[in-house]
Amino acid sequence: MCWHLMVRRMRKPKITIVGSINMDLVTITDEVAKQGETVHGEDFRTLFGGKGANQAVAAARLGADVSMIGKVGDDAFGSRMIENFEANGVDTKGVGMEEDTPSGIANIIVSDKDNRIIIVAGANGKVDRTHVEHFSEIIKESDIVLVQFEIPMETLRYTINICKKEDVPVIINPAPVTALEGEYFKAAAYITPNEHERASLFKMREDGLPEYYDKLITTQGAQGASYFKDGREIVMPPKSVDVVDTTGAGDTFNAAFAVGIAEGKDIEDAIAFANTAAGLAVGKIGAQSGMPYRAEIG
Ligand code: ADP
Repeated sequence: MCWHLMVRRMRKPKITIVGSINMDLVTITDEVAKQGETVHGEDFRTLFGGKGANQAVAAARLGADVSMIGKVGDDAFGSRMIENFEANGVDTKGVGMEEDTPSGIANIIVSDKDNRIIIVAGANGKVDRTHVEHFSEIIKESDIVLVQFEIPMETLRYTINICKKEDVPVIINPAPVTALEGEYFKAAAYITPNEHERASLFKMREDGLPEYYDKLITTQGAQGASYFKDGREIVMPPKSVDVVDTTGAGDTFNAAFAVGIAEGKDIEDAIAFANTAAGLAVGKIGAQSGMPYRAEIG
């Protein structure tokens, strides 16, 4: 093994997440208020969320050296979200506190009949290229950069361009579904949609393969996740688990896949590792509260 690889294996992989940080405000209610109506709910929770933050916390628990680049607001949620990163060992040098701006929130109404979610981007909407540029050294020193679609697309394009220029592999988790020019998907090392995101974003080519198939890792819920080998789609099943709560399953999968690749695992081993980690997450309640630690996976 060459010296460079040995050094890389001896230290923790460095993963940088450029993305969203939210507080999830979850109301559990039997009845959902109609316009002009007031009803009484049953319970209320504030839970740490946002795809970027979830993936950062999951990657840190799985043993990576993780840096978060993003923004919180200058409110009580902002301070608590920074404390939460610190408690999970995520480096917050790249997390700004935006003045006169609310933190990003997801207002989630859970009732028997359906879930209703309103996301307010708040400080996430102010993650601009100047902010990312300011922390570009962190990106340059990373083994892998992981991005999602909950910050402005212009910032995302800029981030992907830095990764390309600096030869840092970038994993694009294209969620929630948002259009992005093909040149950016081409620059990715891997693209990790779920089935719905894949169907919305990637056309089928004449040969029956989806666009960018050689970079696609598609998560498929209880079926596991797939990749393409020699032009054929191979689905790798997850361990069978008792499902408690699938919130955060995709984020855990993405984080674990990034950790696996950054550690030098091949694609199949990285997917197997990610399936195991995500399976453990669905076995527990909550997004971040259900995310496993490395010792649980072995
Ligand atoms: P998303 O939550 O982003 O839609 P998926 O539903 O595709 O993502 O789930 C992500 C990953 O979580 C899957 O690839 C799988 O590893 C794991 N997972 C999800 N649902 C289950 C399940 N019912 N049993 C076991 N693993 C699951």
